[in-house]
Amino acid sequence: MTESIRQDAGVASSLACPYNPAHSVAPGVVEATERMLGLGGTYRYASCATCGALWLTDVPADLAPFYAGDDYYSFEAAADPGEQRLLALAMKPLLRSRRLALAGGMSRWRGKVFPFAATWFAGQGITQSSRILDVGSGSGTTLARLRWLGFRDLSGIDPFLPSPEIRIGPVTIRRQALESVEEQYDVVLFNHSLEHVPDPVGALRAASARLRPGGRVVVGVPLADSAAFERYGTRWAQLDAPRHLTVPTAAALDAAAAAAGLRVVSAYRDSHAFQFWGSEQYAHDITLHGPRSWLTDPAASPFTPAQIEAWEAEARALNRAGRGDQGVFVFAAA
Ligand SMILES: [Zn+2]
Repeated sequence: MTESIRQDAGVASSLACPYNPAHSVAPGVVEATERMLGLGGTYRYASCATCGALWLTDVPADLAPFYAGDDYYSFEAAADPGEQRLLALAMKPLLRSRRLALAGGMSRWRGKVFPFAATWFAGQGITQSSRILDVGSGSGTTLARLRWLGFRDLSGIDPFLPSPEIRIGPVTIRRQALESVEEQYDVVLFNHSLEHVPDPVGALRAASARLRPGGRVVVGVPLADSAAFERYGTRWAQLDAPRHLTVPTAAALDAAAAAAGLRVVSAYRDSHAFQFWGSEQYAHDITLHGPRSWLTDPAASPFTPAQIEAWEAEARALNRAGRGDQGVFVFAAA
């Protein structure tokens, strides 16, 4: 842990662990500040002595300023420069290669450009006609990618949507809470959205109640049982105060599944170099959207492409060891 974590034994949270109220709350709090937009402020996170989860004890009454409209909603699209580069590199030769297209490799190479969907859904009986609801979809980056991969029955909901409804071709995104959704789905997806809700067990229970028989809840989420949180403490980029209201661990998600009538059928880590360059930037007071950020301008950032590549390799090694700072958990009915 870095010295920026203050173990203040005088301040104990009165809140219970959001993943299981029977868990023991650790003494003290971690004090974090808003670093993505550089808004500052002090936000206290309690932690669970049983499962290691973190949660914000003093949730701001109005979170809207922290989602700063276009900035936040363009963030996801730009969040992974590695993927953007991969896309650019992959598109050129593949679009030129008629041989690949004629070989029927279209969906396979599309899967290589956006491998996340293939790994999310692998072995889960999910097909391109599966009915998929993206919870906390933002303005639809993930849905657009799934559409491009050939998935046809897609919709999204997001409580912070700037307008009541957005249509992207046949895909509709509504400003709506999961609890008021009436349809049933083959997949309810939380792609880095579960950490933005105060009651993750309630959200998983609501998702579970909207699954068709054989359906799956797929959760991509930052994880506190990670080398990056241990190394960077409150400068860990994926703590992301105060937007991340809860940050689970694998043990927390096991507990949440049990409470929501679900079981984990697949889990793996999928962290990348962002855990290092994002956290290093925060350790040097460079905001994610600032002029010296790798995200904004790699040439003006303190990092070389070789450093980023080395961190990608380190992330892959951590993922294999189950220590990467984010992961994917697939849940089915218990
Ligand atoms: Zn706990």
